[in-house]
Amino acid sequence: MDAITVVKGFKDILPEEAFNWQRVEQFARTIFADFGFKEIRVPILEKTELFTRGIGDTTDIVEKEMYTFSDRGTESLTLRPEATASVLRAYIEHNLFSQNAVLRLFTIGPMFRRERPQKGRYRQFHQIDVEVLGSDDPRIDAELMIMLVRFLNGLGLDNLNLDINSLGCSACRSTFREKVIAFLKDTQDDLCEDCRRRLHTNPLRVFDCKNETCGQIIKDAPSILDFICDDCRNHFEKVRSSLESFELPYRINHRMVRGLDYYTRTTFEVTIPQMGSQNAVVGGGRYDGLVRDLGGPDISGIGFAIGFERLMALLPPEQTAVPPAPALFIAALGNQAREVAFRLCNRLRLKGIPTEMDYEGKSLKSQMKKADKLGSRYVLILGDREIETGQGELRDMRSSTQQAVPLDQVENHIIQLEK
Ligand code: AMP
Repeated sequence: MDAITVVKGFKDILPEEAFNWQRVEQFARTIFADFGFKEIRVPILEKTELFTRGIGDTTDIVEKEMYTFSDRGTESLTLRPEATASVLRAYIEHNLFSQNAVLRLFTIGPMFRRERPQKGRYRQFHQIDVEVLGSDDPRIDAELMIMLVRFLNGLGLDNLNLDINSLGCSACRSTFREKVIAFLKDTQDDLCEDCRRRLHTNPLRVFDCKNETCGQIIKDAPSILDFICDDCRNHFEKVRSSLESFELPYRINHRMVRGLDYYTRTTFEVTIPQMGSQNAVVGGGRYDGLVRDLGGPDISGIGFAIGFERLMALLPPEQTAVPPAPALFIAALGNQAREVAFRLCNRLRLKGIPTEMDYEGKSLKSQMKKADKLGSRYVLILGDREIETGQGELRDMRSSTQQAVPLDQVENHIIQLEK
């Protein structure tokens, strides 16, 4: 019979990889806690309307990438393509805005987009998502970027580019939108089919188009930074001076408009030179109208999302570790010894000493081989004679020395030796 394989664009995270994911997650939790963030866990399934309203129904994600289905004819549900809309839904639904003027939240988990699978692009991928709600202070924007760079540097990613831009407020955007339409008018026949359509629905999307001709055309487009209002300009200047006061290097990229509709003012991305400029590892920005658009009060917010798979692919080799080996392997010979070993093995585990054995009745030689393969530092050899005397032979695999140890004191010996 044919074996069933994983769904296209989906990926298993195998044990060694998962071990490293856990370490990175743990590191994120530690750094985020230093900056006052708390974890929130939200469902992966939401009402479709949350995303059409939240992300914008003329974005690529909503137009063609969502996993949407009818829940047995009752309502339309969608596997979340990003986390911000869900976090904000929970924020509004549970009145979290009444708790604290500024609330810092993070969540880690899978997202789903039906994109064309390729290297670094999956249909189920994972994000570390961070949101700050309740303030439009530009120092909050800088603070987020300081935390992000601290996190990435701590993982050994020193050579990174932080690109920032301002998309202004909705008033600046509509002026800019007209300028972009006017700019693209003469060249519209050369644009790809998607961009020709976007010109009427969402012209700023042309900036994100991966098509080479569109990329060439948009290169000479006007800069949004020439059209933002005084308030937005002051906000952007303050973000910049706050980054500079912290000596955080950044580049201004006025063509970075980001793929989601809700962004206002500051947007930012982190790229790593060896990845190629198309592939940001982190994307984020401010979304001052989104809480209101989702039915909540008029509260500002800003956030970013780190792509977990891309982050893991970039980690330098010294940052990858192998899961710890068992401290002890019990090599038991004969049925009676295996019974004693079974009890001993689980007794040690209950005391917090990682211990392994096997139940297959293999020869001593092959059990020693297995212990070696597992990387176990100690092996306890148990045969009929050892059961009779109540003492096992404890072998240190590193020094190849051996000593007799009473079976009721194995844990004390291991603890002593490990000190
Ligand atoms: P976005 O939510 O589109 O701003 O993406 C934020 C980050 O998530 C990106 O910078 C990527 O690192 C990651 N990401 C987005 N889409 C995918 C995907 N299809 N596969 C893997 N990672 C992704």
